[in-house]
Amino acid sequence: MTKSLDILIIGGGIAGCCAAIALSDQGHRVKIVEKQTEWRFQSSGIFVYANGLVSLDALGLMDDIVAAGFAVPHGRNTYFDHHGAPIVETRYPTPDQDRIPAILGIKRAEMHRVMAARVSALDVPLSLGTTVERIEQDASGVDVTFSDETQGRFDLVVGADGVRSKTRAQIGVELSPRYTGFGVWRSVHTRPADLTDKIMMMGPAKRFGIMPISDDKLYTFGTMAEPAGAFYPPETWPTEMQARFAEFAGPARAFLEELGPETELLYTAVEEVVMPLPWHAGRVLLIGDAAHASTPFMGQGGAMAMQDAVVLAQALGRFDELGAALTAFGKVRYPVCEFVQNVSRAVGESGAEEIDGDLEPRNARMRETAQSAVDGFYTKLDALNAAGDAQLRSAG
Ligand SMILES: Cc1cc2nc3c(=O)[nH]c(=O)nc-3n(C[C@H](O)[C@H](O)[C@H](O)COP(=O)(O)OP(=O)(O)OC[C@H]3O[C@@H](n4cnc5c(N)ncnc54)[C@H](O)[C@@H]3O)c2cc1C
Repeated sequence: MTKSLDILIIGGGIAGCCAAIALSDQGHRVKIVEKQTEWRFQSSGIFVYANGLVSLDALGLMDDIVAAGFAVPHGRNTYFDHHGAPIVETRYPTPDQDRIPAILGIKRAEMHRVMAARVSALDVPLSLGTTVERIEQDASGVDVTFSDETQGRFDLVVGADGVRSKTRAQIGVELSPRYTGFGVWRSVHTRPADLTDKIMMMGPAKRFGIMPISDDKLYTFGTMAEPAGAFYPPETWPTEMQARFAEFAGPARAFLEELGPETELLYTAVEEVVMPLPWHAGRVLLIGDAAHASTPFMGQGGAMAMQDAVVLAQALGRFDELGAALTAFGKVRYPVCEFVQNVSRAVGESGAEEIDGDLEPRNARMRETAQSAVDGFYTKLDALNAAGDAQLRSAG
């Protein structure tokens, strides 16, 4: 696109911040509206695997984000059963001759701090406590009425407003997020200095993970089936989490025992958004969870949102016609997001299988297949990304 565009981004989460950075870097005039009156995020941990870090590198954010988190040495992931007996160790890839770490753990709030600082350094206007009431478009632009009754006209509107996206409904897509049947219990703790691996403990129909997120903190995450519509008052979360994962010993035990009213703890019911293309209607595009929220079992939803931002900026750079750029964006991103969603869903479902009695057959299978599953996932992801790159390079 030779012309610089006026772009409205709705939602200042991972997708919105990264898109604001990528698009301003390309010379577009960007504005963000964010519905929170105080711009902050619930503070448990998040994983960023190497593919997400590659996108953060392209956005110029990787070094600051790595400095604010904890890069797992050699991308080591150690599996235990729920009694604490070791099963197998896997390694995640470290691209660009090990320059890009394999797995970073970071507090979600710390990642936001770095992203928000860059958004502010780029002088991107941000309206907090603001949403969009009405979107009307014609061939040459989009008229937006904000919740504060002001109005604006934009060349492009990017809906980055998450899993329950209102923008999605405003462009006529009737799609509610699907409850996946899983809940995730997350808690933040002081990190013992010698706990530096990503740890996954495989219970019967439950998993419990431990992940360093800084020099002195780690977070734990327990996943299991939860009934649809279940509500647990926050004050009950410590005892609910303890009860659910009571059979976990080994490295989990001390952290489970530590849970109490002072613990930073979060329960989340997991939803998915599986939306066919197109992800845009006219000049309004959906990105991030608004278009393709995934289950968290591959730790990839944030990485997909980061990559959306990078690819959107590339697509706008390749095409002179906006519709062609948005169509190309969808074609490049859909296969990658669909692959991640499918693998993540399958991983969640296999982790929820009941195992009666002897865990050894499952453990033996993991010893044989765990590393090849990691390698297979990243090889396929690389191939899909390479195909997308080639598509964009040959276009426009
Ligand atoms: C339990 C769990 C664990 C996860 N763990 C990981 C992980 O380890 N690694 C990983 O990469 N991903 C993980 N994810 C996924 C990741 O959190 C999401 O994919 C990511 O946050 C998507 O970013 P987003 O910007 O699209 O949406 P969000 O982060 O949800 O941001 C949306 C933003 O839009 C704002 N907003 C909403 N509605 C409006 C409106 N109408 N107007 C204006 N603003 C609005 C919201 O306030 C918010 O700021 C996990 C998800 C879950 C549920």
